[in-house]
Amino acid sequence: MTFTPHRGCRISRQRASPYPCSTVSVEPNAPGSLASALSLMSRQVAQSRGDSLRRFMSAVSRTHLTIALTICRQLWVWRSWRATAAGGTVVGMPTRRSPWMTDDLDQLRRLARTFFAKESVPNHERWAAQKQVDREFWNKAGELGLMCLSVPEEYGGGGGTFAHEAVLLEEQARAGDSAWGNSVHSGIVAHYVLAYGTEEQKLRWLPRLATGELVGAIAMSEPGGGSDLQNIKTRAVRTGDEYVINGSKTFITNGAQAELVIVVAKTDPSQGATGISLLVVETPLAPGFRRGRVLDKIGLKGQDTAELFFDDVRVPATNLLGSAEGQGFIQLMRQLPQERLIIAVASIAGIEAAVDLTVDYVKDRTAFGRELIKFQNTRFTLAECATEARVTRAFVDECIGEHLLGRLDVPTAAMAKWWSTERLCRVVDECVQLFGGYGYMTEYPIARAWADARVQKIYGGTNEIMKEIIARSL
Ligand SMILES: Cc1cc2nc3c(=O)[nH]c(=O)nc-3n(C[C@H](O)[C@H](O)[C@H](O)COP(=O)(O)OP(=O)(O)OC[C@H]3O[C@@H](n4cnc5c(N)ncnc54)[C@H](O)[C@@H]3O)c2cc1C
Repeated sequence: MTFTPHRGCRISRQRASPYPCSTVSVEPNAPGSLASALSLMSRQVAQSRGDSLRRFMSAVSRTHLTIALTICRQLWVWRSWRATAAGGTVVGMPTRRSPWMTDDLDQLRRLARTFFAKESVPNHERWAAQKQVDREFWNKAGELGLMCLSVPEEYGGGGGTFAHEAVLLEEQARAGDSAWGNSVHSGIVAHYVLAYGTEEQKLRWLPRLATGELVGAIAMSEPGGGSDLQNIKTRAVRTGDEYVINGSKTFITNGAQAELVIVVAKTDPSQGATGISLLVVETPLAPGFRRGRVLDKIGLKGQDTAELFFDDVRVPATNLLGSAEGQGFIQLMRQLPQERLIIAVASIAGIEAAVDLTVDYVKDRTAFGRELIKFQNTRFTLAECATEARVTRAFVDECIGEHLLGRLDVPTAAMAKWWSTERLCRVVDECVQLFGGYGYMTEYPIARAWADARVQKIYGGTNEIMKEIIARSL
């Protein structure tokens, strides 16, 4: 899959190396090379511990050192200029290239960055006011091939992997877009259809999910409980060639716009987990289906989160996902690692963005005649945040790598979810503090990030449930 960058794309955010010297190509130990100069230097340092600096310097070619330092400086200046010219961030944490990145993914990153800058960022306030993205936004993303990136091309998808989904998620988070529910649509709903759908179901729904003709949602949570899925009350009763669905769901992402809802329902109420099935409801074809209000939230203001009602909703029996009833719970469990990894990826991208924003801010803002960055508290706080970001990034990258190999297990995904979301909330809170009063103003991205972060510890399975899952594996 190759992505053609559009004109005006910004540069990719990752840097080849945080150390400009490491990009200089030299033959190791070639006489007269920079490497030999540096190796001679280190030998001398070892031998002449306690000797004078003058003796050490005389052993090393001053010319080599001068050339090396000049190259380093020029590279740094050039890289800074390039980032500035492209609108990137020069300051902030040194962001490393994730080991799973490829040239193809770099292209996708550029495309996604341009897309969010042009089509999403200017609309954030309006979407927050209307509590949802414009319906056409889905179609625009579909036209550019940005949805269902990891669905095979034969079903209309991008033919990529989870790494493609991760890049898109990272760019969405870095653009400060918490409104578009694509992670549910592409990362979750499409994958249920792909994993459990019959060939007919896949051909019927996946291409339309990829273009944005259909918006997808998954409805598990009910007013009576979200954690305890075995005790859901929504019923689906088989009558002839149809299922009749009755019940209600709440907190459903994309609920107000969805045309395809995967409904978790009890087909056998006498059973716990084995009485649960997944049924696809195409909402325009489902009399008795009703949407409640779009819910008011403390964050994710532009994200459509709604209640859904099913009153004698009839769907063809062929809308059952999977070959037999009673598979729903196990189907949910199998998909949950990806769902939780999605939350972890968005969280680490949110952490990195928050630190970058704050570093920019404290270098600019002054108090008591000095930039905030000059106060030890500011530097220590940001040092901790940057370290937490680096540690979290390493773990999430490892989980992505495992998932790409099909090896991410349920407890590890739960670890990634609880760890990254806790770090996100902690880091963003520290960053808000460094912004002072401005950090509490919703026009500041850091304030919105703070409000958006909180729910990450709740949805996708609460962090308490994550710890239960981890503890059970010990
Ligand atoms: C913005 C948003 C979007 C959402 N999107 C979706 C969606 O698209 N689809 C969907 O189906 N759901 C969605 N949800 C619902 C979400 O997944 C649930 O809110 C979540 O699973 C928790 O369920 P609950 O709210 O019923 O809390 P409860 O289950 O009532 O839990 C309340 C508290 O009790 C704790 N608790 C419960 N059981 C245990 C236990 N065994 N051990 C220890 N502590 C426990 C919980 O951790 C929590 O702290 C969304 C929620 C929000 C806020």
